[in-house]
Order: sequence, then C-alpha cells, then structure tokens
Amino acid sequence: MAQKNVTIYGAGLSGLVAAINLAREGHKVTVHDLEKKYGGSSVFNPSLHMTPLDLEDTSRYIGIDISSAFLPLNELLAYFHDLEVGFPFKGFYAVERGDRQSSLDTILYNKCRELGVEFVWESRLDKKNLEHLSADTIIACGLDAASYRIMDLPCAIWEAWICYGPSDLNPLCWCWMDECITEYGYYTVANGMYFDMLFSNGKSVSKEALRKYQDFMYRIKGIEPRDNWRYVTGGAGVASVKQPRLFWKNAILAGTIAGCIDPFLGFGISGGLVSGKVAATAVTDRAKALAEFKRFTKLFPYMYLLKTYVWWTLIRPHVGMMERAMRLAGPKNVEKIANVFVNKRITPPIIPGYNVLGCN
Ligand SMILES: Cc1cc2nc3c(=O)[nH]c(=O)nc-3n(C[C@H](O)[C@H](O)[C@H](O)COP(=O)(O)OP(=O)(O)OC[C@H]3O[C@@H](n4cnc5c(N)ncnc54)[C@H](O)[C@@H]3O)c2cc1C
Repeated sequence: MAQKNVTIYGAGLSGLVAAINLAREGHKVTVHDLEKKYGGSSVFNPSLHMTPLDLEDTSRYIGIDISSAFLPLNELLAYFHDLEVGFPFKGFYAVERGDRQSSLDTILYNKCRELGVEFVWESRLDKKNLEHLSADTIIACGLDAASYRIMDLPCAIWEAWICYGPSDLNPLCWCWMDECITEYGYYTVANGMYFDMLFSNGKSVSKEALRKYQDFMYRIKGIEPRDNWRYVTGGAGVASVKQPRLFWKNAILAGTIAGCIDPFLGFGISGGLVSGKVAATAVTDRAKALAEFKRFTKLFPYMYLLKTYVWWTLIRPHVGMMERAMRLAGPKNVEKIANVFVNKRITPPIIPGYNVLGCN
C-alpha cells in the first residue's frame, strides 16, 4: 500500500484513534490542535463523561485496548425534580477526559507517540488553511462552534455551568431534570474526582437555574454549594436531520463534527472512537468507510426528529408530568422494566457504534 502524508486537525478522541490506525499502516501522520498540549479542549477538560459502551467490541473495532480508562458505574440515578428513579448501570461507564494519567486521552496520546505520530500544538484549522487542505485531511474538531461556522456546517449551540474537584466516592452518576434547563444536570465521580455540569441547548443557563440545581444537590445529595463553577458554551453536530456526513469537499470528517453522536442525550464517546477508525479507513478505501459510517449513523435522523418534535415540544417542558407518571408507575417498577431492556439488550443502536459492533 502506498504511504501517504496525512494531516489531522483535532487531537481529541476521533483524531487520535484515526492517527493510531493510520500510523500503524505506515502512513506519516501529523496532528494539529489549537491547544498547547494533548488532553482535548482546555475549555471543557478535565472532565468526566458517563456513557454506555460495548467496551470489548469497541477496543477490538478501533484496534486499541481502551478498557483501563473506563470504570463501571456503581450507581446511576435520575431525578425528576426531587423524585429519584434508579436506572440499570450495567454496561455504563465513567471515563475521564483531559491530560491526567487516568484519562482516555493519555492512553491514546501515548500510543500515538509510540507510533511516531507528530503533533503541532497551537495550530488551528481556520478559514485560510481550509482553502488549501491536501487530499485525505481529517477534520476532527469536536465541539468547537467556530470550526462548524467556517465550514458552514449546521451546529447546535449549547451553554453550561461546569465544575470539577476532588471526590473519594466510587464511580457513580446521577442526572437531574427540571424546567429551568432544556437538557439536564449531571454529576459523575471517578478517579478521585467529580465533574458537575448543568446545561441547555439553544438557550442560556441562568444563575437562578444554577442556584436551583445547587439547592437540589444540597437538600437531596448533601452537597454544599460551591463557588468553582465556570460558564462555557460549545457547539455540537446535532442541529439538522441531515447532520451526519463523512466527507466535506475533499476532507474526511470524524467525531462530533461528523455528526457521529447520539442526538437525543448527547452520548458522543462511542461515536468519537468508532468514527476515528472509519476516518482512517476512508484514507485508503472511501466506499468501505462510507458504508461503515452509514451503518453507525442510520438511526440519527429518527432520533433527531423524535427529540425535536416529540421530546422537546410535548414532553421535556413538562417535568412535573414526567414526575407524576413515574410516581404512578412506581419508581421501582420503572427500574425493573428498564433492567429487562438492558439485560436482554433490546436497546436499539441509537448511539453511533453502540450495540452494532458485534454484528460485524
Ligand atoms: C463538557 C462535555 C461533557 C460531555 N459529556 C459527555 C458524556 O457524559 N457522555 C458522552 O458520551 N459524551 C459526552 N460529551 C461528548 C463527547 O465528549 C464528544 O462527543 C467526544 O469528545 C467526541 O470526540 P471528538 O473527537 O469529536 O472531539 P474532542 O474529543 O472534543 O476533540 C476535539 C479536538 O479538536 C481540537 N480543536 C477544536 N477546534 C479546533 C481547530 N479549529 N483547529 C485545531 N484543533 C481544534 C480541540 O482542542 C480538541 O482537542 C461531552 C462533551 C462535553 C464538551
């Protein structure tokens, strides 16, 4: 196979997975990132993410053993206002982002270094270099809204309060729903730290909403209000029914900017990882890569429509209604039913790459 010089923009999950796979095939790979060092975006990280993942199948598919970065959860709870509902946590993991030893980025970055991948830090994809991209350039700029803008790609703007700090609890996650936000608040613990995030899509999150969330945490979880919150905004490839795309002009897209993310809840770890492998495949075999990409994103349009026209308009604005429905059904019964679905794996592959890798 002819060796190529491949340029990748974005040293996050999908960019690094693509780099590893291409370097293994003997290509010369150079990764550019706007940050000063590895660890993904310094605006959002260090952070902890929670995700369902086919851990073994994903490691096999991307050709990298990532299992040591994923910690099984001991608890997964959802709160509708103050009402607690337990959810099955089998197959759900906490995973750290950033540049600490325990992060997923560290595993991927070290692998890149072993394979001789070159990195150019503080090097940004901008309008000027977009016009002169060499063939087979991979664009993996994640949740950076400016990148969508310069490429004229649809972009959903989200806004959030985030914070992190030390915690000695075992891995756990809970999320909170309330009318003051359009998405949710979520709190994850792993690797001796917590990460807390309260966010909305297409709308700012007021200080009043943050106060309400902190009040909930104090009353129900015993967590004292903290003053280390930061306000951040970002973009995501969940703004159009036609969002998922593998190619942009001559370039190959990967990760969130390719729309390889679940448009319903924003699970993007699985999509980021598998689409890195798909982008690497596209460098040598575009048809094969496109077939894989379509397989992973085939439910995106349905989930997008469900979220936009059913969830956001009819259900999500009425958390009180959901709370009453849960009380009526009984939180324990809801948990039992959810367990049946998860144990029998009757969950559709709504998250790109999740629940479909075993079918290879
Ligand atoms: C705060 C937050 C919480 C999240 N929580 C969860 C969760 O709990 N569960 C879940 O499954 N998913 C979660 N996600 C989504 C998930 O992190 C992403 O979908 C995943 O990281 C996608 O990988 P990626 O390669 O597309 O982007 P990233 O891993 O974000 O990497 C993008 C890289 O591109 C670089 N970059 C950006 N713009 C440029 C540019 N113009 N030029 C050069 N480099 C650039 C960035 O610095 C970064 O290093 C969360 C995302 C955020 C931001």
